[in-house]
Amino acid sequence: MNDAIEYASWVDRLGCCEGCPRRCRVNRLAGELGFCRVDAGIPVAHIGLHFGEEPPISGTRGSGTIFFAGCNLRCVFCQNSQISQETPPERFRRLTPAALAVEMRRLQDRGAHNINFVSPSHMIFQMAEAIRLARQAGLVIPVVYNTNGYDSVAALRQIRGLVDIYLPDLKYLDNAPGKRFSGVDDYADVVPGVLQEMLDQVGCLSLDDDGLAVRGVLVRHLVLPGCLEDSRRCLDFLARLSPDIPVSIMAQYAPRHRADAYPEINRRLSEAEYDQIVDHALRLGLENAFIQELDAADRYLPDFARNDPFGDAPSAPD
Ligand code: SF4
Repeated sequence: MNDAIEYASWVDRLGCCEGCPRRCRVNRLAGELGFCRVDAGIPVAHIGLHFGEEPPISGTRGSGTIFFAGCNLRCVFCQNSQISQETPPERFRRLTPAALAVEMRRLQDRGAHNINFVSPSHMIFQMAEAIRLARQAGLVIPVVYNTNGYDSVAALRQIRGLVDIYLPDLKYLDNAPGKRFSGVDDYADVVPGVLQEMLDQVGCLSLDDDGLAVRGVLVRHLVLPGCLEDSRRCLDFLARLSPDIPVSIMAQYAPRHRADAYPEINRRLSEAEYDQIVDHALRLGLENAFIQELDAADRYLPDFARNDPFGDAPSAPD
């Protein structure tokens, strides 16, 4: 199958979209909108070097982040709600796959260690085409798929070989909090198959001699206040999946967006809660764990109203 035919088939899929597990089956090519509210275009909210990812991802020169607008989840505590939920995706700059490929090359030229697609689940086919074009034009750095974990296994199989590093969240393994906090009925049913597919494609994270990620899976788990039972369930699952799997245990929860309407999570995580979860991971033998300071929430929460949302790097000029 040549590249043109392959992309044509991706475009065809946007004509009856099952790009993520929502399976809206809308015609995005004709401008119809599904749950994610994005048509066949590529709305981009921010492009820039970011230094706040895990050390193997950010390195010393930064990760080349590309934030897509819109999302296929509705997390009430979303730290990126300005671009995922509060602003309609059509208000953002719209790129074609070719223009996105140019931006990827520019990030590489600026010294980025990798290209880091943030919230790509609803943009998977457009992203795949951009990767193909960027590779043809000389992109050599790894591509990171930085996702909420609510992905289509079938779509991931279709893009096999294009992504080097998977950076999925494992948010819940209980559908009750998924439904209450993220507006999704079946997250806990879907995410195990997603993680297995990612692991089958690229294995556990591997690093080069400088400690930079070159390939593999690194799972993120954000510990929510008062939800420790589900955090333990997530870690238990990961240990069964592979005790070698690296996991980033995140302490940076802060009650942003609409979390004030949910009293049980309308507070910061306590040090004692976080320590319990880290201890649990170590007891399970998950020794490839990245640990955060509890004040990470103050350092890593972005403000997309600024040119430099993270306050850590200049953004690329428009
Ligand atoms: S990518 Fe968007 S339109 Fe397609 S199935 Fe998911 S939510 Fe629906």
